[in-house]
Amino acid sequence: MLSEFLDSLFVSSLDAFGAFAIFGKVITFDVAWYFSLVIAIALGGLITTVANLATTVYLHRGLSHKALTFSKPAHGAFRTVLWLTTGIRPRQWVAVHRKHHAHTDTPDDPHSPAIHGWWNVQVKNYVMYRRVARDEANTERFARDLSPDRLDKALFDHALLGLGTGIAVLVVLFGPVVAVIAAAVHLSYYIAANSAVNAIGHHFGRRPYDNSATNLQWLAFLTAGEGFHNNHHAAPTSAKLAHRWYEIDLGWLLIKPMTWLRLAQVRLDELRLVSSSRRSTQPG
Ligand SMILES: [Zn+2]
Ligand SMILES: [Zn+2]
Repeated sequence: MLSEFLDSLFVSSLDAFGAFAIFGKVITFDVAWYFSLVIAIALGGLITTVANLATTVYLHRGLSHKALTFSKPAHGAFRTVLWLTTGIRPRQWVAVHRKHHAHTDTPDDPHSPAIHGWWNVQVKNYVMYRRVARDEANTERFARDLSPDRLDKALFDHALLGLGTGIAVLVVLFGPVVAVIAAAVHLSYYIAANSAVNAIGHHFGRRPYDNSATNLQWLAFLTAGEGFHNNHHAAPTSAKLAHRWYEIDLGWLLIKPMTWLRLAQVRLDELRLVSSSRRSTQPG
């Protein structure tokens, strides 16, 4: 009796162990797979956040509007980040953007929802950008102050080399699968979010100042502050895009410590509204 009982216990425990082992294998496999996917998506989001910060702080507030100036190391870091994560040539981006401010919501605006419809700008912003970015006469006219230097000619003007190097770094650090997923997440997120500034940010949202752009906090979170586009059109030379206590501008949260470290210098302390801009509602 006792030996039968012990035998049955032994078999049961073996069964239980086997089941656990199989269960354990399934669990281990699933966890590994999901873990890699989560890491890849989080990594893609992190890369876009870094690229968005470089876009808004360096390309937009710094180079395009001269709202702040940078030390040499900061220049070098931003150029390298943009080259590796976007392949954008700064002087082309600046020229397209200055043309947008010079001709906002007219047929000469490179990407106006008022002319093309917001959805068209959302899905075709990349094509619209490239068309004007490749127009050398436009770059010469709007970005004459940013002539290419030796490093531009050797490295930074070669977009595919930059993006390829960026992906190669990811492959070395995280392996090919995570690298490719992270790169796909980053490029989709970066293009969609920055298109949204030109499309949604000139169509939906609040207009505390009297201009065609809008303010959207959720878009500001996704673009490191660019979602406060109405504020920006009202005061383009301001390094700070949040104008009210409850508005959160991630770009400004980077600029502040950069000024403490003397990596950047803000040109204007006060908010200087453009002459055509008046408040359509009271802020705050
Ligand atoms: Zn705009
Ligand atoms: Zn601007």
